[in-house]
Amino acid sequence: MRLSSLILLLLLGVPTFAQTQKTRASQPIIPSANQTSARPKLVVGIVVDQMRYDYLYRYYDKYTASGFRRLMDDGFNARNNHYHYAATYTGPGHAAIYTGSAPALNGIVGNDFYDRNLGRTVYCAEDTTVSTLGNTGVAGKMSPRNMLVTTIGDQLKLATDGRAKVVGVALKDRGAILPAGHAANGAYWFDSKDGNFISSTFYGKELPAWVQAFNARKLPEQFIGQKWETMLPMNQYTASTTDDQAYESTLPGEAKPVFPHEFAVQAGGSKYEVLRSSPYGDQLTKEFALAAIKGENLGQSGVTDMLCVSFSSPDYIGHAFGTHAIETEDNYLRLDRQMADLFAQLDATVGKGQWLAFLSADHGAADVPAFSQQYRIPAAVKGYGEVNDAAKASLEKAYGPGQWILTYFNQQIYLNHDLLADKKVPLAEAYDVIKRALLKQRGVVNVVNLHNLSADAIPELQADLFRNVYFPNRSGDIYVLQQAGWFEGRAKGTTHGTTYAYDTHVPFLLYGWGVRPGQTFRRTHIYDIAPTITALLGILEPSGCIGDPLGEAIK
Ligand SMILES: [Zn+2]
Repeated sequence: MRLSSLILLLLLGVPTFAQTQKTRASQPIIPSANQTSARPKLVVGIVVDQMRYDYLYRYYDKYTASGFRRLMDDGFNARNNHYHYAATYTGPGHAAIYTGSAPALNGIVGNDFYDRNLGRTVYCAEDTTVSTLGNTGVAGKMSPRNMLVTTIGDQLKLATDGRAKVVGVALKDRGAILPAGHAANGAYWFDSKDGNFISSTFYGKELPAWVQAFNARKLPEQFIGQKWETMLPMNQYTASTTDDQAYESTLPGEAKPVFPHEFAVQAGGSKYEVLRSSPYGDQLTKEFALAAIKGENLGQSGVTDMLCVSFSSPDYIGHAFGTHAIETEDNYLRLDRQMADLFAQLDATVGKGQWLAFLSADHGAADVPAFSQQYRIPAAVKGYGEVNDAAKASLEKAYGPGQWILTYFNQQIYLNHDLLADKKVPLAEAYDVIKRALLKQRGVVNVVNLHNLSADAIPELQADLFRNVYFPNRSGDIYVLQQAGWFEGRAKGTTHGTTYAYDTHVPFLLYGWGVRPGQTFRRTHIYDIAPTITALLGILEPSGCIGDPLGEAIK
């Protein structure tokens, strides 16, 4: 080194060799997750279906230190984490979390959507080319093929020459399939018909022996013989309304929506279906997740494995009873105990500090309109057909009879492009006709042309939410924005799917290997979860990723 260079380096404060040695001698070297090739033994992705952000805090005092609070208190908590697209549903949510992407890129624009090429409605996880593993029904004709980009697990597979094991688990098929991704070893979901976990020939020729052994335990049979009673004395449910509310749904066979809930057989249905709408659904999911960890030897092979677990029951319970019901509170308190057990088992099998977990939700939920109205907050339910019927009538009045609208899904009107072309009606003109008609309708705030988002005076954040859900072949042409607090078609209980904070604000907790404890209130996005995990692993992010790692959460 020339003397002038050395002087320059000293002036710039660059440490010389001697200084570096001294520093190293006096401080322990803390391996940094982003500067070594070390990786955790297991990544555990947890989605709680319909878990709104405020549930972390509304029930905090009744959670144990070893469940949700273990992640909150000892991990990193991104407290202002939102969905960034106008389709807050289960399929899109699970896909967005694990792809770090938006429906506009990953193709999962709804639980169901109309595919213009196929000319029919498509379920997000359907696959007509495969068959069920586990029984002879159709509940296994599923795969992730409609999802067009990679997941965290896919990238892990690619990074390890396929040696990483990736497994998805949920009661709902889409909650297991979309997270696990294309290259997964397996995804397993609950078939109410026989009370077993099943899969698809997409993943292999037969159910693994551990899955068959799990089904042979017949846990659903044990659960169905029990009641759902509150875990705590009734007067301790201070974060909820009183039990009997006219706006709550009842479980099958019940006269009133009150404790204790007994599990009656649905007429013509399976006796196991009701387990989905009870805390036993969470317990069953956790037991299956533990069986997967053991059966697949997850975290034991020397490469990082991945387990994707989605707890579906909070969604079924939330839909039925709402966001302020004792049923909802009780289920979260019980789920907290299931989490604590899952984490304890991970410590025992994979090792404390050896696993990395994240927790989020696929969407939030609206307060039940009748509940909001008690506080004079604007809210209402409108009939599901109101928008479609009014839009149809407006087009028929302007252009004569015809099937002008193919379908109305996910607050979007799918126009019949062929008919518009035949009758030489420009799409923009049809849009104007519909907009004029629908703006007269109660609850409608705006009618948005998804092809021309810059034409409407919409706040930039809202415009982005519409932009991010628009996938030409699978999306509607027109988005009908209802007022906050309003939704369509559910007389009792609640739902989700809007662009409002109660649907977009969900937890994002990071915990364990490589995670720096702390919290942030800056606005983070659901698409930041996947790149944060891949950054921790030192691997490439999923192909459609549009998010950024939470640098402050990484050691
Ligand atoms: Zn959901």
